[in-house]
Amino acid sequence: MKNMTPQTIAIIGAGPVGLAAAARALERGITPVIFEKGPVIGQAVRQWQHVRMFSPWKYNIDAACRQLLLASGWKEPDGESYPTGGDLVTQYLEPLATLPALQKHLRLESEVIAISRVGFDKLKTAGREDAAYEIRYRKASEELILLADTVLDVSGTWNTPNPAGANGLSAIGEKQAGDHISYGMPDLLGTQKSRFAHKRVAVLGMGHSATGNLIDLVTLSKEAPETSIVWLVRGKDAGKAFGGGANDQLAARGALGAEIKQLLESGKLTIETGFRLERIIQTKGGIKLQAGNDTEKHEVIVDELIVSTGFRPDYSFASELRLALDPALECPPALAPLIDPNEHSCGTVRPHGAAELAQPETGYYIAGMKSYGRAPTFLTLTGYEQVRSIIAEIAGDHEAAARVELVLPETGVCSGPSDTETAPPASCCGGAPVERADACCVADEKAKDAGESGCGCGCGPKAEQEPQNEKVMAHYG
Ligand SMILES: Cc1cc2nc3c(=O)[nH]c(=O)nc-3n(C[C@H](O)[C@H](O)[C@H](O)COP(=O)(O)OP(=O)(O)OC[C@H]3O[C@@H](n4cnc5c(N)ncnc54)[C@H](O)[C@@H]3O)c2cc1C
Repeated sequence: MKNMTPQTIAIIGAGPVGLAAAARALERGITPVIFEKGPVIGQAVRQWQHVRMFSPWKYNIDAACRQLLLASGWKEPDGESYPTGGDLVTQYLEPLATLPALQKHLRLESEVIAISRVGFDKLKTAGREDAAYEIRYRKASEELILLADTVLDVSGTWNTPNPAGANGLSAIGEKQAGDHISYGMPDLLGTQKSRFAHKRVAVLGMGHSATGNLIDLVTLSKEAPETSIVWLVRGKDAGKAFGGGANDQLAARGALGAEIKQLLESGKLTIETGFRLERIIQTKGGIKLQAGNDTEKHEVIVDELIVSTGFRPDYSFASELRLALDPALECPPALAPLIDPNEHSCGTVRPHGAAELAQPETGYYIAGMKSYGRAPTFLTLTGYEQVRSIIAEIAGDHEAAARVELVLPETGVCSGPSDTETAPPASCCGGAPVERADACCVADEKAKDAGESGCGCGCGPKAEQEPQNEKVMAHYG
C-alpha cells in the first residue's frame, strides 16, 4: 500500500496548517482528503475570531497557499497589519478552501473517530508497514471508512482546554459549576458580553489568552462599571506574563504584556498570586474558588470564572496506532527538547520537520498546534514549515524534507527571573538555536558551546524553581 499510486494522504483538520498541508500535497501530486469535524473550515479559529493575532499577516500565510491564491486573483492583505482570527478565516482560509483545486478534497462535518491499519491491530507487527490506514469518520450519524497511504493529524488542541485544577485535574466541583465557567477566550465584548457585564469575574492563567481576557474585561468595565476583575495566578510572580515588551519581535505580543502591567499598576484589576485552585463550591452568593490546603486556605467568590490555562492534545482516535509521545509534553519525542517550557520559554524554536515529527507508525505524522502537545509556544509559521517538510518526505524528496526554510521571530523573552520585581527579563535570545537541542536560543547555544551552563536565561536547573505552568511565557492559554 505504501507505494500505491496515486498516493492518498488523510489530513485530519481543516485549520490553517491542515489546509497548507493539502496545498503542499497537491504540489507534489499526492491526493489529500481533508476531514473537518465542523460544518465549515477553520472551525477552531472561528471560536477565537474576535481575538487579534499577535503575528502580522506576513507570518500567517503559507507560501504554497499564497501561490495558489495569487494565481486565482486574490488580493493579499498588508503583510505588516494584524488580523483577527475572523480576518484570518474570511481573508485567507475561506478564499483558500473555496479554490476548486482544494475544495473538492474537503469533507466537512466529518469527524475522525478512529484510525487503524487495515488488517492489523496494534499488537501485530509482521507486514504492518505495508498496510494502508483505515480512517473511520462520522458524518451525520453514519460511520464511514476511508483508506489512505499516509495520515497527517493536524486536529489542533482547541477542543481540549486544560482544566482549572493546579494539578492538571479538574478542580473538585469544576464540572458541577460548569454553567459559571468558560475556557480559553470567550467573546467578552461581543456575543458573551451580557454574561460578564456587571459581574465579578476571575481569570485563571498566565498566558496570552488570560491577559487578553483581562484587557477585554477592563474595557467591558468601562461601560458596565459594576464589573470587577480578579486575576488568579498560580505562581508567586506575575511578572512573566508581561512578556518581552519592546524586545519582542512580534510587537503585538509584546504590547499585550505591557498593557496588562499598566492595568495592574492602575488598580483596574486585582491579582491573587500563589493561587493554586483545588475546589469550586457553588453558593447562593456566587462560586467560591478555593486554593491551598486545610491549614492555609485562600478563597475568592465570583460570579464567573474564565479558565485560560492552555490546551492539551487528545489522541483518543489514534489509540490503536503505535505512537511515541513525550511523557510530559505529549508531543513527538524528538520535538520535546526543543519546546519544553521547563527548559526554555523563548518561542524561538529551531525549524523542524519530518525527521522530528516521525512516528513509529510509518507514514503517520502529527503537525500543527497539536504537535506541540501541551507546550504553549506554537506559531502558525512553524506549522507551515512542518507540513512542507512532511509532505516532501512522503513524496520521497528527502533532501527538501531535511532543508531548513524558516526563520521565526524572536519573542524577546526568556524564562529567567527578571532584574526587578516588575520588569520583564532582558532579551537574551538572539534567535532560535541553530544546532543544539538543549539550547533555548543563540546566546544559550554559544554559552553551552563554550562549556558554560547556559546564557542564564533560566534554562536548566534554575527553571525548576517554579512549577511548570509559571515557567511558560505568555502564549495561548
Ligand atoms: C487565541 C489564539 C490566538 C493565536 N494567535 C496566534 C498568532 O497570533 N500567531 C501565531 O502564529 N499563532 C497563533 N495561535 C496559534 C496557532 O497558530 C493557531 O492555534 C492555529 O489555528 C493552529 O492551526 P492548526 O491548523 O494546527 O489547528 P486548528 O486551527 O486548531 O485546526 C484544527 C482543526 O481540526 C478540526 N478537528 C479537530 N478534531 C477533529 C477530528 N477528530 N476530525 C476532524 N476534524 C477535527 C478542528 O475543528 C479544527 O478546524 C493562536 C492560537 C489561539 C488559540
